[in-house]
Amino acid sequence: MQRFITFLFSILISSTFYAQNQQYQGKFEPIDNMIPQPNVYRSASGAPGKAYWQQRANYKIKAQLDEKNNTISGDETITYYNNSPDNLNYLWIQLEQNVNKKENEDFGYAFGNVRDSMNTRHMQFLTRAIDFPAGYTIKYIKDTNGKSIRSLVNNTMMKVLLSKPLKSGESLTFSIGWSYHITDRSMYLLSREGYEYFPEDDNTVYLIAHWFPRMAVYNDTEGWQNKQFQKLGEFALEFGDYDVEITVPADHLVASTGDLKNESSVLTKTQQQRMAMARKSTDKPVMIVTPEEARANEKNKTTKTKTWKFNAKNVRDFAFASSRKFIWDAQAVPLETHTAMAMSFYPKEGLPVWSESSTLAVKNALEVFSKEVFEYPYPVCISVNTSNIGMEFPMISFNGGRPVNGKMTDNAKAGMIGTIVHEVGHNWFPMIVSSDERQWMWMDEGLNTFISQRTMEERYPEYPHTQPKSIVPFMSGDKSIMRPIMTTSDNDLLSQFGANYYLKPTVGLQMLRNSIVGKELFDQAFKEYANRWKYKHPNPADLFRTLEDATAVDLDWFYRGWFFTTDNVDMELTNVKWFTVANEENIENRNNVTQAKIKAENAGENTSDFAGGPESITMVPTPDQAYGQFLSRMDDPEIRKQLYGKNIYEITVKNVGGLIMPVTIEWQYTDGTNEIDTLPAEVWRTNEYEITKTFIKEKQVKKVVLDPNFEFADTDTKNNSFPKVEETSDFDTFKNSQVTNELFDTYVGTYRIDEGFEAKVYRNKTEFYVKVASSPEDRIYPESKTLFRVKEFDATVEFVPSIDGGKMGIILARGDERYKGVKID
Ligand SMILES: [Zn+2]
Repeated sequence: MQRFITFLFSILISSTFYAQNQQYQGKFEPIDNMIPQPNVYRSASGAPGKAYWQQRANYKIKAQLDEKNNTISGDETITYYNNSPDNLNYLWIQLEQNVNKKENEDFGYAFGNVRDSMNTRHMQFLTRAIDFPAGYTIKYIKDTNGKSIRSLVNNTMMKVLLSKPLKSGESLTFSIGWSYHITDRSMYLLSREGYEYFPEDDNTVYLIAHWFPRMAVYNDTEGWQNKQFQKLGEFALEFGDYDVEITVPADHLVASTGDLKNESSVLTKTQQQRMAMARKSTDKPVMIVTPEEARANEKNKTTKTKTWKFNAKNVRDFAFASSRKFIWDAQAVPLETHTAMAMSFYPKEGLPVWSESSTLAVKNALEVFSKEVFEYPYPVCISVNTSNIGMEFPMISFNGGRPVNGKMTDNAKAGMIGTIVHEVGHNWFPMIVSSDERQWMWMDEGLNTFISQRTMEERYPEYPHTQPKSIVPFMSGDKSIMRPIMTTSDNDLLSQFGANYYLKPTVGLQMLRNSIVGKELFDQAFKEYANRWKYKHPNPADLFRTLEDATAVDLDWFYRGWFFTTDNVDMELTNVKWFTVANEENIENRNNVTQAKIKAENAGENTSDFAGGPESITMVPTPDQAYGQFLSRMDDPEIRKQLYGKNIYEITVKNVGGLIMPVTIEWQYTDGTNEIDTLPAEVWRTNEYEITKTFIKEKQVKKVVLDPNFEFADTDTKNNSFPKVEETSDFDTFKNSQVTNELFDTYVGTYRIDEGFEAKVYRNKTEFYVKVASSPEDRIYPESKTLFRVKEFDATVEFVPSIDGGKMGIILARGDERYKGVKID
């Protein structure tokens, strides 16, 4: 027995020894070796360098939409300006529609395995069983003399081989003729564009985007952009002016990027009058095409056509929507130097929420983003309704969210409004502050979500908001499938990218603003970054450098941990010791001194609360040797006098999660008052795993809590308090939510999701689970009787009794994606 105890003791010693000697990782070392070095193009301050350059491409496009065959064709003339210091032997053009070609399916996000029973749409995602003739037909590429230019297509990109180099400083004008079959949005996973057919009235809504051959980016860090379009990673594009003519059936309405140049020939007299009213209406939208008129339009099936003409200046892309189903409303939004028109286009299937909420959401986003980033520069901002997914383009976005039987739950409505605000926000990031989405999805999604959330907080306080706590389930998830934020867009899992590229950078920026840098200084730095890089192409290093340069806060430790690792914050308040200074009379009593010392050394070791009272420590006069050659002496009795009767608390905090952060300590006093002390992250500089710090307090403390306001996304708050407290168990949360097993059993079953996969809901005793498609099961936790949350990532499951003629429905939501389904067994 003795031997066994000794053995156990030696293990304890060695494991403690190991914990205290965790390897130094240099968490405060500069990240200079992890980011590109500054140069004449990108300066060390994070601003564009004195020799910064970027290419430019102007487009003249004439396009025809063929409704009968669901095709679109175009003749476009590109003028490409080579502002680089390099002579170019060839150009690269993006052909994103080719991603849907049969031979490019390995790029697609075919998810999951083949199972005994699976629905047909899911199988189509996996196998592309229907051989749809997707992708471009390139009819010609020719120069201004009509001479053909050689080209070579490599999947989603086309190489244009020039007969002589395009010299630095020169421009080249050439033309491309093309056409493609517009894809059915329901046939492909991650369809951002395409058509939606409405069998009930035999009409179609066309969402036309990444539709014309576009110049790839050529820049100082990449040369030619060389990542193929693989769907998740979006776009890298050059700025330019657009002159676009779109020919559509004469009874269609076209919503588009740019200024409408021929209003008088495409709109009726009444529509023009209503538009004139809308331009003066700043408090509410004016209907340009009413629901009744849209219903009447649905019955027209004219074979005549009309050509809509648009101009757009200094945009990096161009998109439009076209349908005879559209209802159209518009209102004016006065900004500091000009008035922008906020508008919405939606089919009757979007009523009534779209007429109530869409244009208002556009207006709210325009106002808050203009205040928090820089003024919206464009003349119009349009929200177009679609079945699912939100997708952004300059001046126009396609936004998912429709009521079911005319009704929408609060949660679904919050999601829809959040989507509109978010997609409008993309006008700033990346449409103007034009980062490379294909490399760094977080740069536009994260920065946009950060300001979108501020818009939601300010304008929609009734809905839940993202805060540091929101990232906890993700951060405490499975590290083996997690990627750092600084991972190329296409290399993240579909189940992870929402948390990793949207939520985590947002929370990181919230921490910097609210808890590390301070609001005023941070906001100045954030605006500095946006203004430095508007209409330019920033890289992550330019953002990292600007935020440090404009705040004088060394943030390398933050970038290193939050952006380059998957570590999480978990601080443990391992101990709090409470001392008081013994009275003056005791000082000469050696015996007492020794006793007090022994007591002090043991203090707290075996104490889990403050019940035993403070340990007394004795202060002895400073010996002369302590002063060395100093002639002056401190007044020891005066110092001791300051300490008598005060409470001295020594706290020890362990870094369990690996991520260093400031340490916020809440002191709860016995008189019921509270006080907060914050130690900067730099306290971890010399010991990255454990710190000890001493405080003097007038009052007596009854409880100490780390990160009391959940500012730093601590993944385990059970070890944040002294005395330790028991957290409410999952069982209590379950009881409090009033979700009984009987109620949950009404939700249990298989749901068919509109997107073509299935979700299974089941119960194991009092634990609830959902299994979506073939991904692993996720435990869900009730927040109300109908709303449940997955803790591992930011996702909710909502049950909607009688979604479709009395059937039980389900809404799965993750980031700005939502999937609706109906129970089938
Ligand atoms: Zn987005």
